Amino acid sequence: MNLKILILPGDGIGTEVTRAAMQVLGAVAKKFGHTLELSEGLLGGIAIHKTGTPFPKETEELALKADATLMGSVGLPEFDTAPPLERPEAGLLAIRRVLDVYANLRPVRTYPELVESSPLKNHVVEGTDMIIVRELTGGLYYGEPRGISAERGFNTMSYTRKEVERVTHTAFKLARNRRKLLTSVDKSNVLEVSQFWRQVVVDVAKQYPDVKLEHMLVDNAAMQMVLRPTQFDVMLTENTFGDILSDVGGILAGSIGMLPSASLGETKGLYEPVHGSAPDIAGQNKANPLGAISSVAAMLEYTFGLMKEATAVNEAVGKVLASGKVTADLRPKGKPATTEEVGQAVSEAL
Ligand code: NAD
Repeated sequence: MNLKILILPGDGIGTEVTRAAMQVLGAVAKKFGHTLELSEGLLGGIAIHKTGTPFPKETEELALKADATLMGSVGLPEFDTAPPLERPEAGLLAIRRVLDVYANLRPVRTYPELVESSPLKNHVVEGTDMIIVRELTGGLYYGEPRGISAERGFNTMSYTRKEVERVTHTAFKLARNRRKLLTSVDKSNVLEVSQFWRQVVVDVAKQYPDVKLEHMLVDNAAMQMVLRPTQFDVMLTENTFGDILSDVGGILAGSIGMLPSASLGETKGLYEPVHGSAPDIAGQNKANPLGAISSVAAMLEYTFGLMKEATAVNEAVGKVLASGKVTADLRPKGKPATTEEVGQAVSEAL
C-alpha cells in the first residue's frame, strides 16, 4: 500500500519525537512491504520564523493532498506574550480547522509495566483503559466574538447542533465496539452551551440503545479520573474540557509523553502526541517518543486500516517498556534512555 503522509515536526521536542516516530514508520513499511510517500512542512514557531505565519499556505496545500498528517508539537517561549492569533499554537488550531478533524481521540491506558511510574497508587491506576473523545474544531477555542483590550478580555463558548451531533456519533460508535459505556462531560449546571450539548447528546443516544449513556459535570470528572479511572470507557467532551482532562490522563499513563492522539474528520486524519513542545527539555534528547510512536500506530489503524501493522507497533512499544529502556519521565530504575535509543529500540522490536 502507498502511504501518503505529511510530516510536521514543529517546535521543541516535536522535532525529536517525530524523528523517532518516522524511524518506526520506516521500519513498519519495510517489514510489511508498504511504500512511503512522505512530504515535510512547516508549522508553528519555526513556520513564523521562516515564513512569517504559523500555518503557511504551502503547508495547508500539502496537508490537503496527504491522506494523513503526523505532527510533533508547536510552541516556543519567545511567543509567550504574543496575541493568541500570532502564536505558534494558532497554526495548530488552523490546521485542525482546515482538515475539519472534529473528533480528537485520546486513548489513556495504563501499561502493566508502567504502574509504578504513575504518582498515583497502583490499585487506583491498574486496569485503566479509556478514550477521551474531545471535540476539536469548535467551542471556546474558536468561538466569536473574541478579543482583548486594556479593560476586558473575552471569548465565546458556542456549539451548533451539527457540531455536537457529529462528534457524539464518533464517540458512540467507539463505545459500541468497546465496553459500551459513554460518559458525556459538561458544565450544564452553569453554562447554557453545556445544557444544549447535553440535549443533543441525549437525542443522538436514541440511535445507540446498546450503549449506556451517563452525564458528569467536568469538575467531578477531573476528580473521578484520579479517584477511580477504571470506571470510564469512552468519555465525550467539548474542546477546552477535553484539553484539560487529557493532561490528567498523563498522570494515569505514567507520563504525558506516553499519550497519542488521533484527530479524525470525514476524510482526513491528523496524528500527534498529546504533549506540547516542552521547552524545559527541548534539544536534550530526553523526550519520551512513545506518544508520537503510538500516534503512528493510530494512523496505521484509523487512516489506512492496517490493523496488523498497528498492533505490531503497539506490541513493540509494550516490549520496550518491559525491557526497561525508557526515558527519564518514566522514572526507570537504571540509567534513562535517550529519545533516539527508545526510537531505535521500538524499531528493532518490530
Ligand atoms: P508540555 O506538554 O510541553 O510540557 C509539560 C511538562 O511535561 C513539561 O515538564 C515537559 O518537560 C513534560 N513533557 C511533555 N512532553 C514530554 C515528553 N514527551 N517526554 C518527557 N516529558 C515531557 O506543556 P507546557 O509546558 O504547558 O507547554 C509548552 C509549550 O507547548 C507551550 O508553548 C504550549 O502552548 C505548547 N503546547 C503545544 C501542544 C501541541 O503542540 N499539541 C500541546 C500542549 C502545549
